[in-house]
Amino acid sequence: VQEMGHDLGTMIETAQELRREHRVARDLQELDHARSRLTATVSHELKSPLMAVRANVELLEEAPGDPELHEHALSAVARGTERLQRLVDGLRRFSRLGDPREARVRRLVDLAAVTEQAVALSAATATHRGVALSHHRAAAVVLGDPDELDQVVLNLVDNAVKYTPRGGQVLVTTARHGHDVELSVSDTGIGISEEDQARLFTEFFRSTDNAARLEPGTGLGLSIVDRIVRAHDGRIDVESALGVGSTFRVTLPAFEDA
Ligand code: ADP
Repeated sequence: VQEMGHDLGTMIETAQELRREHRVARDLQELDHARSRLTATVSHELKSPLMAVRANVELLEEAPGDPELHEHALSAVARGTERLQRLVDGLRRFSRLGDPREARVRRLVDLAAVTEQAVALSAATATHRGVALSHHRAAAVVLGDPDELDQVVLNLVDNAVKYTPRGGQVLVTTARHGHDVELSVSDTGIGISEEDQARLFTEFFRSTDNAARLEPGTGLGLSIVDRIVRAHDGRIDVESALGVGSTFRVTLPAFEDA
């Protein structure tokens, strides 16, 4: 009986070891899939602006003397390269976030002050687009990377202004609720369908909604926001209705003074 017990123990250990190995193999496989998916999406996204630039350069070579065509093709080249630049910048920011070699800074950051700056930066664009942008602030201190938190606020405020038609409003608030700090960005813009809400934080996701498509973008902003928020042990939620508006709410653990 003792021997059987011993054998059983060895068998259980072997089974556990096998299961661990199986789990590692599965994780590696998932990582591999994620990498190929990302590579496929990146090449796909880079392809259309590259093709546009190439086609227009060819047009310029073929008809060098036509001033109207010249102007048209040059502006298409400029738009294409701008888009490529935005994509590359976004990708660089995106990949840096996942790099464990990049030590994450942790400092006391007042989210209200960060938000105030982001709102000030977006003020001119908002005015130009006829959107009323306001900020209600209450001190909201967290432990985090000031540059990354700045990116979170800037992306959310930028989007709110971008996807709100003339005459609309964007309200940004920061506040402390118990052990949490909350940043909320509300707009009276075009809104997001329920179907799209589920895919909003996936890299390169852009709505196929006509109103959203009118605005240039890469679909990387919200995936960057999501990564940063999660790296700060926080979460992001969205409430939205088409044609009514959207509210993005970021919740982060508040810095608790001992
Ligand atoms: P981008 O704005 O560059 O396309 P984002 O990742 O920031 O990329 O946003 C992804 C998509 O989510 C946008 O293309 C748009 O369809 C939708 N979206 C984001 N914010 C808003 C908003 N405030 N109102 C309506 N739609 C939004």
